[in-house]
Parts: sequence; C-alpha cells; structure tokens
Amino acid sequence: MIKVSVLIALLAGVITPVSNAQFQFLGDKTAISLSYDDALVSQLENAVPALNSHGFKASFYIIPTSQAIKTRLEDFKVLAKQGHELGNHSLFHPCSGSKLHREWVTSEQNLDNYTPERAIREVLIANVFLQAIDGQTQRTFTPPCFDTQAANKDFIDRLKAHFVAIKGVGNDNGQSVLWAPVGVSGQQLIEYVKGVPQDVRLINILFHGVGGDHLSVSSHAHSQLLAYLAANKEHYYVDSYINIMKKAANN
Ligand SMILES: [Zn+2]
Repeated sequence: MIKVSVLIALLAGVITPVSNAQFQFLGDKTAISLSYDDALVSQLENAVPALNSHGFKASFYIIPTSQAIKTRLEDFKVLAKQGHELGNHSLFHPCSGSKLHREWVTSEQNLDNYTPERAIREVLIANVFLQAIDGQTQRTFTPPCFDTQAANKDFIDRLKAHFVAIKGVGNDNGQSVLWAPVGVSGQQLIEYVKGVPQDVRLINILFHGVGGDHLSVSSHAHSQLLAYLAANKEHYYVDSYINIMKKAANN
C-alpha cells in the first residue's frame, strides 16, 4: 500500500505531469479526477454512495489480490456497472524497498527484486483480471508508489501501449497536479482545489481510505469536497480518469 513517505511527498504539493494531453475540451473549466486506490471496503461503504449521490464518476485503482476483492467482489462489479472506472494498480502492489521509509515493503513485494519483464507481466495479468470483472478492454494505470523502475530499469515505457493513460509519469508541461490527502478537513480539500494555479487543467485527488482503512480522510471531509464540486459545476468537470484522458486525447 502507498505509505507515509509517499504521502509526505504528495502532501508537499508535488506537481506530477501525466501526459501530453490537450485539455481544450474543458473550455474554462478545470478537470477533477477523484481516485480511490488499493481496493478498500471503506471506499465501497462511504465514497461510492457519496459519488453516486452527485452523479460523479471516479476511478478505483484495484489490487486484485487484496482482501476487499475477495470479500466484496460483487460490489466492485456493481460500481463498474455504475460507470466508475476500475483502474490497474498492478497485481501485488510492488514498490521499491530501497527508497526512504519503505521498511514496510516485503522482499516478495519489493520492486528492486523484480525484473522489468516481471513487473510488466504482473500489470498485464491484472488487466486480464479487471476485464473479467468489468468487461472493459481499456483502462488507466496508477503505478504503485509511483515507482517506475524494476532493478533500476524503466518498465513503464513498454506499458504505455496498454493503457489510455498512466498517472504520474510523462510530461504535460505542468497542466496537472496530483495530491493524496490524508487526515485533512473538508475545508482543506476545498482550499486545495481553489488554490491550484489557473493554468492547471487537471487536478488529481488520490484517496485511500474514506472514513476508515489506511491513509484515510473522514467521510464528512470527503462529502464536503464533493458538495463543493457539485455546487460549482460551472468551474469543475468531474469524471473518471479514463474519461478525462480519452477526451483529452481526442481533442
Ligand atoms: Zn496504492
């Protein structure tokens, strides 16, 4: 799972380009991609009802081997049917154990022990699994921990052909920002969205737990952000990451 060290970097407001996408389709609006990573029960319990109450579509980056997939598979099928994206987050959530504060990475899960071929293979197996759940042949990928190398070799480049977009990699000239909030208030979430520079076209907000589980934001804070976005539809275009990136690619 994404851990504190990653979050500190993200909380610092790191600007993470995603691609060379074009965002003219937005007009004067800013795109908002809400994602829910790691396949957690609290997302099903708290985030999905809140999203659906506003008609917002989001992206759920699934770990096929996670506990929630075993126990709540039907619920993930339902949210896919509702129009949310099931995104790829690899098969076992491997991350590089040699980076700072990665003591939690087990040797099995350590990307430093992988070859690029193994990393690629596991991501592509996850795609097959996700297609079995939702019937979709297109989706986006969020690399676990945003790590892009296995055994010091890039494995992302060869995956690009398999996805509509890969979050957190590439260069879009600062058109997007990315934040993974933890333990913040609704007002802080809203202030973040309001404070993003005007030339930014896409705001990625990555949630983990919502009202429970790890790296969480309260249900109340999450709902406050969604209510703010719903009340300001003339300024914000909220959609799944795949829908936003498809529109950008077709622009
Ligand atoms: Zn993750």
